[in-house]
Amino acid sequence: MEDERQALLEAAQELLRWEEELGGIGVPSFELEARPAEPLAVERQLVPAPKPRVEPVPAAEPAAPNEGRAHLLRVLQEKAAACTACVLHEGRNQSVFARGNPKTDLVFVGEGPGYHEDQQGLPFVGNAGALLDRMVTAMGYPRDGVYICNVVKCRPPQNRTPKPEEAGSCKPFLTGQLDAIRPRVIVALGRCAAENLGQVEPGGRGWRGRWGTYEGIDVMSTYHPAFLLRSPQFKKPVWQDLKNVLRKLGKPIP
Ligand code: SF4
Repeated sequence: MEDERQALLEAAQELLRWEEELGGIGVPSFELEARPAEPLAVERQLVPAPKPRVEPVPAAEPAAPNEGRAHLLRVLQEKAAACTACVLHEGRNQSVFARGNPKTDLVFVGEGPGYHEDQQGLPFVGNAGALLDRMVTAMGYPRDGVYICNVVKCRPPQNRTPKPEEAGSCKPFLTGQLDAIRPRVIVALGRCAAENLGQVEPGGRGWRGRWGTYEGIDVMSTYHPAFLLRSPQFKKPVWQDLKNVLRKLGKPIP
């Protein structure tokens, strides 16, 4: 129960921080911190304290977010759905937040939603998404065993690369997602993601296949699946990058 209270306290603190960062974007404020604390049901039942367990407690899953963090992701998704912080909101059908498992050790970050993503409200559901799914399953993960999101949450017109100011406006959502999930490895898909995760300067060269870090999390930068659809000869180096990711995670190489 103490853990639960601590988790809720941490969630409220993080939400306050994100409220500050997102406060200027015209979205409803979040009022978790204004609610009076109510006793939990288990507190009212006056149940005697359980005897201490003697068997060893299994190790927690790596990067498993507590309920507070899962709640934070839901709040961020609601804020992204109502966000008008950059011009990309004008052409969207809906914002596209993420898909997959937030308790994962592996997160993929792409560029932005395309036509199919904008229609369905999910990232990587077109042809590039089908290729990414094959890459994920080839690594030994279930399709939805990883977390997939983008630098910007709204579709740029004609699928152009997001402008720096658009990526900057959307950054609190991406940093909030990564901060909540805290995976062991992030894969940056394409130059846009690599630049916005601080892995390469704008226009810099030699970024693919390099390890870097983002807020203490290992980052592998590799090519975007949409680029691989146009240039399949680069699938081999990308597979090398993904095998390096598996080595970093200590997982078997298929
Ligand atoms: S792209 Fe991001 S910052 Fe721009 S309107 Fe959409 S959610 Fe807001």
